[in-house]
Amino acid sequence: MTISPFSRRDVLKGGGAAALLAMGAPLLSGPLSAKAPKIGKQAPAHFRFNLDDYEITMVSDGNIVLPTSFEAKNVDEAELKAFLQSYYLDPDTHTSQVNVCLINTGDELIMVDTGAGQYFLDSAGKLVDNLAVAGIEPEQIDKIILTHGHPDHVWGVIDDFEESPRFPNASYAMNAEEFDFWTDEDAVNKVPEMFRSFATGAMRNLKPVKDKTTRTKDGTEIAPGIRVIDTPGHTLAHQSVVVERGGKKLLITGDAIHHWPITFDHPDWQPIVDMDAEKAIVTRKRLMDMAATDKMIVAGYHMPFPGIGRIARKGQGYQWVPAAWEWNI
Ligand SMILES: [Zn+2]
Repeated sequence: MTISPFSRRDVLKGGGAAALLAMGAPLLSGPLSAKAPKIGKQAPAHFRFNLDDYEITMVSDGNIVLPTSFEAKNVDEAELKAFLQSYYLDPDTHTSQVNVCLINTGDELIMVDTGAGQYFLDSAGKLVDNLAVAGIEPEQIDKIILTHGHPDHVWGVIDDFEESPRFPNASYAMNAEEFDFWTDEDAVNKVPEMFRSFATGAMRNLKPVKDKTTRTKDGTEIAPGIRVIDTPGHTLAHQSVVVERGGKKLLITGDAIHHWPITFDHPDWQPIVDMDAEKAIVTRKRLMDMAATDKMIVAGYHMPFPGIGRIARKGQGYQWVPAAWEWNI
């Protein structure tokens, strides 16, 4: 028999393929073969779940590609490369996802960090496009919590084409010390030379929203069940976010936990981007202990997309456990 009486549309809708198989016809052969071009691009966009009555959406800003030599300045290069290869990772280049977390409380839409904007790296700065795919317009965001002043977290505050806030109706919340550090006219002289562009970019993005920014400290409540906690070390006064609803706890780490798998297996390894390496180690151990003890759901800004998982103890260290459907979150 032939399948000519059916149009392609008829075949595709209503279980047409199964019906044809039952009739003994070949499955979509000849003129019915797909002619779509290969796309060739990876594009993780968003991932959504509920934390009791709050809706959480993880939205990708793209990714950041850095040399792995940035990841552990106190470790022998051969040891670092062998460790990365044991996880099937590239020994020379690390591709770090950028996962922005949004919380819809029903009253407010709150976002944590703003992505990297247009000028940091071509592979990042996709947040607004991916927000649109997730059904969110920039005008709908009411509050933005900033974890710290690094480019991939604050360079998305200002739309560099329009030279105006990218999220026009949002107010901001940032640790007071952290905000003062990056908006000090002398900030460029307070960071190592290789990070001077970080300081000029932070100034360009933070100063215009100074009047819209609430200056926070450890424990400041942002909305019911949402508070910031001090997690210093990666930067001077880095903060993370804890969300508690209906007995469930979500920890939004920012960069206090920031490399899979190094942070977990080797929390003592020192990434070059930690401003105070010793303090950063103390902080991430404390944070991982808290997350494991309290069985918190963890939103990791730089974990593999979508950046949702839990942290379990493993030997002397920890392990990242990616979210599973069985969790029913
Ligand atoms: Zn970061």
